[in-house]
Amino acid sequence: MALQLYHARVDQIRNLTHDVREIVLRLTDPAEIHFKAGQFVSFDVPHPTLNRPATRAYSIASPPVQKGRITLLLNLIPGGPGSTYLFGLQEGDATQFKGPAGSFYLKEDGQRDLLFVATGTGIAPFRSMLDHLLESGFSRSATLYWGLRSQKDLYYQKEFEALAAQHRNIRFITTLSRPEPGWTGTTGRVTTLVAERIASVANLSVYLCGNSGMIGEVSSLMTQKGLCPIRKEKWYDDAGGAAPD
Ligand SMILES: Cc1cc2nc3c(=O)[nH]c(=O)nc-3n(C[C@H](O)[C@H](O)[C@H](O)COP(=O)(O)OP(=O)(O)OC[C@H]3O[C@@H](n4cnc5c(N)ncnc54)[C@H](O)[C@@H]3O)c2cc1C
Repeated sequence: MALQLYHARVDQIRNLTHDVREIVLRLTDPAEIHFKAGQFVSFDVPHPTLNRPATRAYSIASPPVQKGRITLLLNLIPGGPGSTYLFGLQEGDATQFKGPAGSFYLKEDGQRDLLFVATGTGIAPFRSMLDHLLESGFSRSATLYWGLRSQKDLYYQKEFEALAAQHRNIRFITTLSRPEPGWTGTTGRVTTLVAERIASVANLSVYLCGNSGMIGEVSSLMTQKGLCPIRKEKWYDDAGGAAPD
């Protein structure tokens, strides 16, 4: 089935770090989007060498209850067609995207607790999922592990810390793989955090989002511990490249 085309205007732009930007799009036609927490939208963007636009996907970082405006979280990729287009948008600009798409959304897994693992901007679908779960009166336990590089890459910390403080069933840990001196939080790769803290997968549903290295490593760690549902949203392949964990 063809995806719906949405017209929107850029409502708000916030630079969250040196290379991460949050943009809020207000839908103009149609005025609302109905999606499942975790799904993405896609933009057809100009490409410097292809003689046609390139399609790039971006997960919705806001909850489904918010139908007239969606939040996207963007990593700056210098020279990248998607990144160049989206970072070029100014407040008030018109844009268009298609969607919603993807099967990376919360599944009915009985009474299992949830483990979310993200690297970098891979936090976006989990922000939507957590908001949605809490809106829906979620009472099981959910743990969010987030891997970033160093202090200059931190954002949304207060927001997730507040969620964890307000809801005893939500746990949130950010780990920095290359912290600068002065960091008193968790250190190391997010994969190590999973290996050290997750003793059993018997009652767990696992959701992974980010680079292929983290997804592969965490999946095999979980599989070694037993059988549990593992859902994966691989954004890009980092074979041979630096992983943002
Ligand atoms: C389902 C899905 C959802 C996605 N959601 C988001 C999102 O919410 N926010 C977002 O920033 N990106 C997201 N991405 C990645 C996005 O679609 C583009 O791949 C990214 O913006 C780079 O595109 P580009 O054209 O700018 O650069 P390209 O030239 O296509 O990519 C250059 C290289 O950048 C690296 N890269 C791609 N994405 C990232 C990233 N997020 N962080 C660090 N390095 C990266 C890869 O190594 C890639 O080969 C998603 C991808 C998928 C498949």
